[in-house]
Amino acid sequence: MRIAIIGMGTAGVTLLKELVKSDSFSKMSIDVYDNPINMGQGVPFQNDSAELLINLPAAQMSLNLDNHREFYEWYETQSTFKFSNPEYLPRFIFGHYMKDYLKKYNHNYDNIHTFKEEVSEVFIESEIGQTNVTYCVCTSKEIENCRKYDVVFLTIGTLSYHDPYGLKGIRGYIKTPYPTYNTLDDVQDSDEIAIIGTGLASLDVIRYVTAHHPKLPITVASRKGRLPSVRGEMPDIDFKYVTPEKFNEIKRKHFGNVPLDEAIKLFLKDCALHNIDVETLVHRSQDDPIKDLTYDLEHADALGKLQSILELTKENLNWIWNSLSREDQKRFLTDYQPILKENSNPMPPQTARLLIDHINHGTIKINNGLEDVQYRDNKFNFNYKDKLIEQFDIVINATGSKTQLADLDEDDQLVLNLENRQVVQPHPLGGIQIVAETNQIISPRYGTLKHMYALGQLTNGINQSRNGVMMIVKQAVNVVDHLLSTK
Ligand SMILES: Cc1cc2nc3c(=O)[nH]c(=O)nc-3n(C[C@H](O)[C@H](O)[C@H](O)COP(=O)(O)OP(=O)(O)OC[C@H]3O[C@@H](n4cnc5c(N)ncnc54)[C@H](O)[C@@H]3O)c2cc1C
Repeated sequence: MRIAIIGMGTAGVTLLKELVKSDSFSKMSIDVYDNPINMGQGVPFQNDSAELLINLPAAQMSLNLDNHREFYEWYETQSTFKFSNPEYLPRFIFGHYMKDYLKKYNHNYDNIHTFKEEVSEVFIESEIGQTNVTYCVCTSKEIENCRKYDVVFLTIGTLSYHDPYGLKGIRGYIKTPYPTYNTLDDVQDSDEIAIIGTGLASLDVIRYVTAHHPKLPITVASRKGRLPSVRGEMPDIDFKYVTPEKFNEIKRKHFGNVPLDEAIKLFLKDCALHNIDVETLVHRSQDDPIKDLTYDLEHADALGKLQSILELTKENLNWIWNSLSREDQKRFLTDYQPILKENSNPMPPQTARLLIDHINHGTIKINNGLEDVQYRDNKFNFNYKDKLIEQFDIVINATGSKTQLADLDEDDQLVLNLENRQVVQPHPLGGIQIVAETNQIISPRYGTLKHMYALGQLTNGINQSRNGVMMIVKQAVNVVDHLLSTK
């Protein structure tokens, strides 16, 4: 069986790990593709500043579903990297743990081949009138150099960053915040810097830029000016009401869907069971970063329970989300997704304390009400809702990655090519169409592609909010099970 894995980050490495474990591994020939920098590490866990931390305790995140401590145990046995507070480790350490798998496999098995190149095209070879397909993967424009496969995994991670104010290409506009240690490469010491976006990527840049740029404060601006929540004490929680059995029951009475309001009712019953004061916690923001961070730090138990139940919701969101009608999915995105987003992927408490220090010492300034950014007279002009205008020399874009195929540009050429060749098609709510249960790609030309799978943020229309490491690992395990049971 000829297999290609395109993208060797968390999803790609986990797929490889699962394939290596299988009984039929010796009959496989596996080619893995990525650029030389990210090969085996991926984007979030690439080599970057040690100040960028994994957002959950190291002992809770690994590529092994049977041993969540595996990464932490790996950290303890190696001697290259040592940190004084290893509870929350830097992200790049996880990258080295993943890369270690790849190194070991490359060393031990000659049926795994590593191509340190990006893939530019994947097309489908099929004779007119026939339904058999062969997948062709290319790293250059020469068609004769493309390689043929029986199975392709598309695991290319996040799409490129949004460019909400159309600033891409302007000198001084840094279109992506990673790696953060490159953001100051072309910046003068006297430059005034602003970061747009106040999410997790923004926190990463704040940590790096405030430590290395002499001209302070750094302004951080967005429409709402709200920072992510702070990680509380998260207990293990199970659902009693939000269950596949309950959903199946409701679906039988509602034309195959679960009405959103019914789903919310079940969710609130589960919250009540765990004494989670949803109403208070959801409306806790006072739109003041210091007050908000302090509240979260001081309510670690109550907030942790809410974060746990939201995390559990995300873990189960494939069947929850895909039980909703399209109308209800849209309503969910407007009414509930912002709550889920604000309260999940919380920052470690030590990051919150650092931010409070920065704000108190005037090294960062967090602004809300950002409406527009225009480039005039060699300056970036920030226009706020209250008509105030501020000027900056440098803008670092931390607004998050795109989700819709319609927004893509040449930075996502592979996906544009896949769409143009009719291998993939957009999902109306983001990413590409896949079968929710199996991650098989649904092509507009060839129907469900039996052996072409996609994982990760490219599938966000189906896998809404399910992009954390452990969720990706679970999907990879299921996908390999599916492949091996259907080959
Ligand atoms: C900044 C950031 C921080 C995060 N931190 C955490 C965290 O602390 N904990 C957590 O659980 N989750 C975190 N996440 C979520 C994270 O997205 C997932 O956990 C996971 O790393 C995603 O895995 P992936 O394989 O889909 O993407 P990645 O790990 O990024 O892998 C995708 C790979 O595909 C490669 N690629 C792209 N295009 C091509 C091409 N044309 N040809 C070949 N290769 C290609 C890329 O170079 C990359 O190596 C974070 C996400 C981001 C963006």
